[in-house]
Amino acid sequence: MVSYKELGLVNTREMFAKAIKGGYAIPAFNFNNMEQLQAIIKASAETKSPVILQVSKGARNYANQTLLRYMAQGAVEYAKELGWEHPQICLHLDHGDSFELCKSCVDFGFSSVMIDASSLPYEENIALTKKVVEYAHKYDVTVEAELGVLAGVEDEVSSAVSHYTKPEEVVDFATRTGCDSLAISIGTSHGAYKFTPEQCTRDPKTGKLVPPPLAFDVLDAIMEQLPGFPIVLHGSSSVPQEYVDMINQYGGKLPDAVGIPEEQLRKAAKSAVCKINIDSDSRLAFTAAVRKVFAEKPGEFDPRKYCGPARDLMEELYKHKIINVLGSNGKA
Ligand SMILES: [Zn+2]
Repeated sequence: MVSYKELGLVNTREMFAKAIKGGYAIPAFNFNNMEQLQAIIKASAETKSPVILQVSKGARNYANQTLLRYMAQGAVEYAKELGWEHPQICLHLDHGDSFELCKSCVDFGFSSVMIDASSLPYEENIALTKKVVEYAHKYDVTVEAELGVLAGVEDEVSSAVSHYTKPEEVVDFATRTGCDSLAISIGTSHGAYKFTPEQCTRDPKTGKLVPPPLAFDVLDAIMEQLPGFPIVLHGSSSVPQEYVDMINQYGGKLPDAVGIPEEQLRKAAKSAVCKINIDSDSRLAFTAAVRKVFAEKPGEFDPRKYCGPARDLMEELYKHKIINVLGSNGKA
């Protein structure tokens, strides 16, 4: 048993309380490799933004959970080296799907876990979430739960259709489970293809897809039911067109990839939404940068020469999100 407190990590409780009061949101960036982690920490340290490092089940399978945890521990020290005196870094399990998985993360030094039982019937979601909360709270680890179903594909999490969170259920759910934050479904979606062309309209000038707006009426109704309660948005990449264009220009093929417009995320960040998950956008930045190097310098075979530019582009992306979308700069 390792406590996250020994590793210099923090849980989400204080982060979220401050974020709701201050009208901003904490970035939750997924990571799978060293370059991504370096970019996240550099961007957070330079902007003095609290940050949530997310590890999904897929990341654990890809990179090995032991290695990821030590990387997060190393990230705290790296942040200090960069001059961030008191780094506010949370290590969070994204989409935990069983009590055993959540428990192993709590025991292993994570400061926050998500139990996603949203695909189960309501009462089973409550029972499993409550079990995780009871265990995690013994060690002061915070728990995110989910109510409602997001569409899209993210690692092993996938669903063809979405169901908006029902505002009339949230008080009962939060009270009975004791969860610390709630991921809701209001029209965000996992992956780089958040909407089918049929769900969108097309801008007559550019020919680009315009996605349907988020259901802010549902968010408002939830906030009315649970005033001041931390709300989480998954599937909130905006799929920047510049990266999609770069990928397509240098030999890739991502037709009609579409995300959540940043103005809508900014609006959400000013409300009780205090954690916004961003994964696909950094994948796109990484891929765009690597493709560019491969296209322009076909003779290049030193991974540092293409992972380096990928890291730089991700860092730029993370800073942009922190400063221009979430507003979390200067808050840590
Ligand atoms: Zn998610």
